[in-house]
Amino acid sequence: MPCPNCLALGGANVSVSPHADLLLHSDAGINFGATASGHVEYYVCNACGMKWERIRARSEPDAEWRPTDKPLA
Ligand SMILES: [Zn+2]
Repeated sequence: MPCPNCLALGGANVSVSPHADLLLHSDAGINFGATASGHVEYYVCNACGMKWERIRARSEPDAEWRPTDKPLA
């Protein structure tokens, strides 16, 4: 079960800061085409174990926090 803080994060814009129990696991560069690029950050919740990704890119201002199944140790 997601913790209340993770439940609240669902559908939140990426401008929302990670909640207190989210630990940054890793990040990676991504490309959105020839000219646009950014980063994706992966977080793991210390309270409930839920995994999230957050896209940080100038070209994706409307991106939302998304749960991810990516294996994060
Ligand atoms: Zn959580």
